[in-house]
Amino acid sequence: MKIALVGIGKIAVDQHVPAIAGSTDWDLAATVSRHGKVDGIEAFTDLGAMLDARSDIRVVSLCLPPVPRFDYAMQALKAGRHVMLEKPPGATIAECHALEAAARRAGLSIYATWHSRHADMVAAAKEWLAGTALRALTVTWKEDVRRWHPGQAWIWEPGGLGVFDPGINALSIVTEILPDDIHVSEAELDIPENCQTPIGARIAFHHPGGARIGAVFDWRQDGDQTWEIEAQTDVGTLRLCEGGAVMEVDGIRTGDAAPLDGEYPRLYARMAQLVRKGEIDMDLRPMTLATDALALGRRIPTDTFHD
Ligand code: NAP
Repeated sequence: MKIALVGIGKIAVDQHVPAIAGSTDWDLAATVSRHGKVDGIEAFTDLGAMLDARSDIRVVSLCLPPVPRFDYAMQALKAGRHVMLEKPPGATIAECHALEAAARRAGLSIYATWHSRHADMVAAAKEWLAGTALRALTVTWKEDVRRWHPGQAWIWEPGGLGVFDPGINALSIVTEILPDDIHVSEAELDIPENCQTPIGARIAFHHPGGARIGAVFDWRQDGDQTWEIEAQTDVGTLRLCEGGAVMEVDGIRTGDAAPLDGEYPRLYARMAQLVRKGEIDMDLRPMTLATDALALGRRIPTDTFHD
């Protein structure tokens, strides 16, 4: 199937282009970006122009930041194209509901991707936890923003999510592996005085079985980067490390993939399946937890941030 990639920036180049190139389902037929291109692929700077010129391209994958994504997605849906959304699927929950409703009305597929859910050991962790009673779960997601988001001003603007941009990946795993739904009960947000979004966050969640659930997100981590989820249960302790690529149960380690390995090929395989079956996949639970933490969070002004 022919696909167009929109927003040729960091994640498009690092992950989407290689995942499409390595897939037997997809043929990258065009790009839309104001500044970026992919060698050998027809390039447009305007989405409308691409949609008009290339009626043979039935699927559009959006790799833009969250705030501009709604207008692009709606334009693609109105032009009768199936749509794949980078995470988070929009800037607000209401936008995502509107996109889903528009896709349903038009009989099109729309996919809110959560790449971290496709990390190597997430399915195994889900299976292991299914038969246990959860006592506590702790998320530790600490990375260096200067290393992973160099020069990206949008992450500090309203709707850019700040540290919830990586943190929502942890929330996508937690909502996938836990059998029960959780919700935010309180949060603290460290917000640099010159930014609109947090650089650090601590969140407490309510669990229906009374388990203690908490998350610490921090974008000020030098040295080792930490993407871990630890679950204590009645039968032992499970740790997902390296963003879900590695699992430890009572200290016994499984998996040797690097963070992000295999995640984007699995997203594109899922999108191919959705288009072939005429289905929609819009799980907004990670987004709900992130936006609720931002709504409930106590703001703590912190040092100014300079890239
Ligand atoms: P990015 O490089 O800053 O932006 C991607 C592209 O979007 C830019 O190159 C730009 O292309 C276009 N763009 C930016 N602002 C725009 C605007 N206001 N209107 C229209 N187009 C705009 O960001 P990224 O790191 O690739 O992240 C994009 C999305 O992928 C985010 O939602 C992020 O959460 C997700 N993601 C990122 C990573 C990562 O490691 N960076 C990992 C997983 C997921 P043009 O200027 O050429 O139009």
